[in-house]
Amino acid sequence: MIMCRAATRLMSKQLDVSLTRREATLLRFHVMMCKACRRCQQQFNMLHDIGDPFIERAPDSTEDLERHQQAVEQARLSSKSDTDESNDKTD
Ligand SMILES: [Zn+2]
Repeated sequence: MIMCRAATRLMSKQLDVSLTRREATLLRFHVMMCKACRRCQQQFNMLHDIGDPFIERAPDSTEDLERHQQAVEQARLSSKSDTDESNDKTD
């Protein structure tokens, strides 16, 4: 099973380009099992809908990716109210 970090990366990627079948399967499976990432994906879609600058384009450098993930982390933290699992530490 892929880790949450990889999952959020794929979520970001799929907003800009189509995932490969393998990536899509990995992501779908992870999101199915991981409540935190389910919420995260909702946030991603919402941010994308309102045109968040970080989400608008695929992160193409490490620095961009860092900021990108910070934005995602913010989104996750701000909607953590019913997240009772804490097994999403991937570091
Ligand atoms: Zn996850």
